[in-house]
Amino acid sequence: MAGHPGSDRLGGPGSIEAILGWVIAHEAPNMIPLPLLGETTEAPESPETASRLRDRLSRTMLKTVGEYQLIKEGDRILVAVSGGKDSYTMLELLWEARKKAPVDFELVAVHLDQGQPGYDGRALAAWLKALEVPHEIVHEDTYSIVLEQARDNATYCAPCSRLRRGILYSSAERHRCNKLALGHHRDDALETLFMNLLYAGRLQAMPARYRTNDGRFEVIRPLLECAEDDLARHAANERYPIIPCNLCGAQSGLKRDRAAELLATLEREIPNVRNIMLSALKNVRPSHLLDVEVAEAWEASAHKYPARK
Ligand code: SF4
Repeated sequence: MAGHPGSDRLGGPGSIEAILGWVIAHEAPNMIPLPLLGETTEAPESPETASRLRDRLSRTMLKTVGEYQLIKEGDRILVAVSGGKDSYTMLELLWEARKKAPVDFELVAVHLDQGQPGYDGRALAAWLKALEVPHEIVHEDTYSIVLEQARDNATYCAPCSRLRRGILYSSAERHRCNKLALGHHRDDALETLFMNLLYAGRLQAMPARYRTNDGRFEVIRPLLECAEDDLARHAANERYPIIPCNLCGAQSGLKRDRAAELLATLEREIPNVRNIMLSALKNVRPSHLLDVEVAEAWEASAHKYPARK
């Protein structure tokens, strides 16, 4: 992709802020107003066509990208493609956005074949090739290591994620990427919030971006405000060749599953509760929590921000 004159100016034609302007200007016919705090990102009540759903997901993603400054001029982003519905969607929407975006950035898709029994990545490989996105399929037998490391009643996901993350970091280094994009969505963030709140006694969800402890990479989550149901419907519309994980699916009683059940129960009682909770994560009152360090930090810097209603 060619560079754009003046693209390094903050707020100028090449800035990421301009992506939002571009979306609004060029997708006006299908435009649903961008959601404000407290508004819903859920599907409209009338049946939604596949292309409108795709547009809505794209706009939600670009809003998150703009609001949290996830992509900047010159970024080289490793997009982690697990073979699940979320990462397929993330890659396809980012790839489309890149072609039209007023900022110049690169994508490299990386998929990890973990050596799970029954794994067949041929359809995924064909899909990546058809998309014409630069990509790599890494083969590492993490499956045997995870089985070895997970004790009888431990979950597979914890050791598996650590191994996967390490391999992705090595891949990012090899591909000279400065960022890693992960496909976590709104419901992942809320489940994490519940798990931390109910099992760990911690008020913590998922950030849209953070820097790794060693400072080498920034991890970004462009789909963090997208609803899982929407992603599932989009994936079905697109017929993505999903590769199921046979490891964690074999486990029952996981805390994450329990958190998801609780959210579903709440949603039945309080319609739209997931979006309300997402709004709450963006609308924090540090002065009304009990963490002394947070309260002190807030008091010291509150003069910088307008009073919250
Ligand atoms: S879902 Fe499967 S692949 Fe992903 S972290 Fe858990 S065990 Fe590993």
